[in-house]
Amino acid sequence: MQSDYYEVLGVDRNASADEIKKAYRKMAMRYHPDKNPGDASAEDKFKEAARAYEVLSDQSKRQRYDQFGHQGVDGSGGFTGGFHNVDDIFSSFGDIFGDLFGGGGRGRRRREGPQRGMDLRYYLEVDLEDVIDGTKKEISFELDKSCETCSGSGAEPGTSPEICGSCGGSGQVVRQQGFFSLATPCGACQGSGQVIKSKCSDCKGSGRVPSQKNLRVNVPAGVGDGTQLRLTGEGEAGKLGGPAGDLYVEVRIRPHDQFVRKDIHLYGAKDVSYLQALLGAELEVKTLRGMSLLVIPKGTNPGDVITLPGEGVPSLRTGRKVGDLHFEIRIQIPKKLSKMEEKLLREIAGEKKENVASKKGLFG
Ligand SMILES: [Zn+2]
Ligand SMILES: [Zn+2]
Repeated sequence: MQSDYYEVLGVDRNASADEIKKAYRKMAMRYHPDKNPGDASAEDKFKEAARAYEVLSDQSKRQRYDQFGHQGVDGSGGFTGGFHNVDDIFSSFGDIFGDLFGGGGRGRRRREGPQRGMDLRYYLEVDLEDVIDGTKKEISFELDKSCETCSGSGAEPGTSPEICGSCGGSGQVVRQQGFFSLATPCGACQGSGQVIKSKCSDCKGSGRVPSQKNLRVNVPAGVGDGTQLRLTGEGEAGKLGGPAGDLYVEVRIRPHDQFVRKDIHLYGAKDVSYLQALLGAELEVKTLRGMSLLVIPKGTNPGDVITLPGEGVPSLRTGRKVGDLHFEIRIQIPKKLSKMEEKLLREIAGEKKENVASKKGLFG
């Protein structure tokens, strides 16, 4: 279960943009990784707050979230820029931390030079059937890639970026405030340390151009809901010759109409007639692998569980271990009996001296 984004930030549903920003700053201060070194739960909270802020600070995402909940912003089968690590959060919301942590939020200030591309996250929906043997899925999404015309420098071919005169290339200006000296990003070069005099016409100086990316993703057998597959170097292009980020494909498993999965085991239900329950039967049942025979023993009770060993889901870790499929037995008692059925049942009731209603009903 994902937590409610408003609850994560501790604001109410009609909080203003400013209140949301303030609440996020408060959370970020409290759970900042530098203040909670080695505390994984603080880091999770920090990331969760960043995700909440990412959605609630964006007018259109917030609207979709209000209307459709998490599904509206996670985009089933779609694409969102996600945060994989704490550095992603700083590179996205660095300006919010600007005053708090002196520039980059962790003293990690950008300078001119190669920069790794952002990690990206893609949500991929698969069916429970796909989990049995694994599958291959084609995915495609829009992604900025390095501009070929200027090799990603952003400068018109034949020219090159120049060192920013305002900050001397450091990308930050330091100002004194009370006892503290605070470093803030240089306004003249947006913290890059460089200015481009003649911009590349293809990418307008950004060094990147949008492109369509198609990938084939290998989904291994046994993946679970939320399993992350890492595709190294398939994320956003790096800047100024830096390496590309990674793509994290997060698997979402569509709900199945027949089975519920818990770890490697599957749970379903099977309806049987009262005669099958009393006398026993062998029934064909659908499993994720095809058809199988379910043996109903004589005298089966409602709620009894019959297990088909090895018809569950393979374990992602070992691949060899496979879970079981459990059927809970439901017994269908007919609302109406045929004449013959009623006659025979009444004979049995008489034989066993059972107290049953008369043929015309209880009040007949
Ligand atoms: Zn500058
Ligand atoms: Zn270019």
